[in-house]
Amino acid sequence: MPSRPPRSRTNLYGLGRPGLRRFFEEAGAAPYHADQAFRWLYRLDRLDPSAWTDLPLALRSRILDGARVEEGSIDDRAEAADGTVKCRIALAEGDAVETVLLVQSGRATLCLSTQVGCALGCRFCLTGRMGFLRNLGPGEIVGQVALAKRERALGDGPFNVVLMGMGEPLRNYDAVIEAFRLLTDPEGFGLSHRRITLSTAGLAPEIERLAREPRRPRLAVSLNATTDGIRDRLMPINRRFPIARLREACRVFARETGDGFTFEYVLLAGVNDSDADIARLARIARAHPAKLNLIPFNPVPGQLDFRPTARERTIEIRDRLAAMDVRVAIRWSRGTEARAACGQLAVERGPSSPRAGRGSAPAHGRRP
Ligand code: SF4
Repeated sequence: MPSRPPRSRTNLYGLGRPGLRRFFEEAGAAPYHADQAFRWLYRLDRLDPSAWTDLPLALRSRILDGARVEEGSIDDRAEAADGTVKCRIALAEGDAVETVLLVQSGRATLCLSTQVGCALGCRFCLTGRMGFLRNLGPGEIVGQVALAKRERALGDGPFNVVLMGMGEPLRNYDAVIEAFRLLTDPEGFGLSHRRITLSTAGLAPEIERLAREPRRPRLAVSLNATTDGIRDRLMPINRRFPIARLREACRVFARETGDGFTFEYVLLAGVNDSDADIARLARIARAHPAKLNLIPFNPVPGQLDFRPTARERTIEIRDRLAAMDVRVAIRWSRGTEARAACGQLAVERGPSSPRAGRGSAPAHGRRP
């Protein structure tokens, strides 16, 4: 087995055009070689610089001497009967995260993680229980796409990306935006920005910052409660950015971008699913250019003290909201037997993830 290049070398995977240009400039190469490397890395998915045939041989060997190209690797996978695949990704810089591939009605969606663990501590989320370990770099975020594409042979066809896995994407703002650029660059992954959705637990200033980006992913806001009393209890971030402040940021986002967004609402029996909750939820949803996704909670026995709202009640809530002129849908979970459904992902302790404890990935955002 070939030995791995030392970690101290620059990892080219995840560098955007400016980073690659800097690297090539320092290597004494013309800037257009950085653009060629960009295409090999992200468009053509060829990670071995010795195969970058439009670069001079001498330059290729300088790259091999001074850099490494590592995107991580899939070290475990589980598949559910509905075709949902959960992959554990051993990250190039250490630690592990999970990525989920869903295929529904012929449409593939990849659910990506943006942090190892999460600092926000939402009560219904196992990732929150892990605590925060570290941010992912841009290459570790887009590497999940490259690996998942290969795993499922998604080819060049369109697919959707949701930033709803482990972590709060807006707490890792710069890396997430750089990853978004790599995914949408025509010479990169070439995805339409409309195919990428970012879900946040409600970091109001970053939602407003996102609105000012020249291009941005679609926005999903994890609401989950209609009063500050309940939301404070479910999502501690609400104490910093209460519902009124969050809604103000949503208004700024809609005004600045001209785009609508999605409210996500995880239904928890006896906590946020009363008739009074639903009436308030309708008022909030109607006051914004927003659609509403109702998310059935995935219980993890012995791990979290919540129960899911019964299926019949979930349907009744959907119908009531629709009758109140709310654009609403239920996002039933997929991948439950592979523990790939929302709230069920877990990074097990293993040799390639020495710091990873048990956790659950997506809860603040659910796959649309
Ligand atoms: S729901 Fe999202 S923001 Fe909240 S703890 Fe879990 S991963 Fe973090």
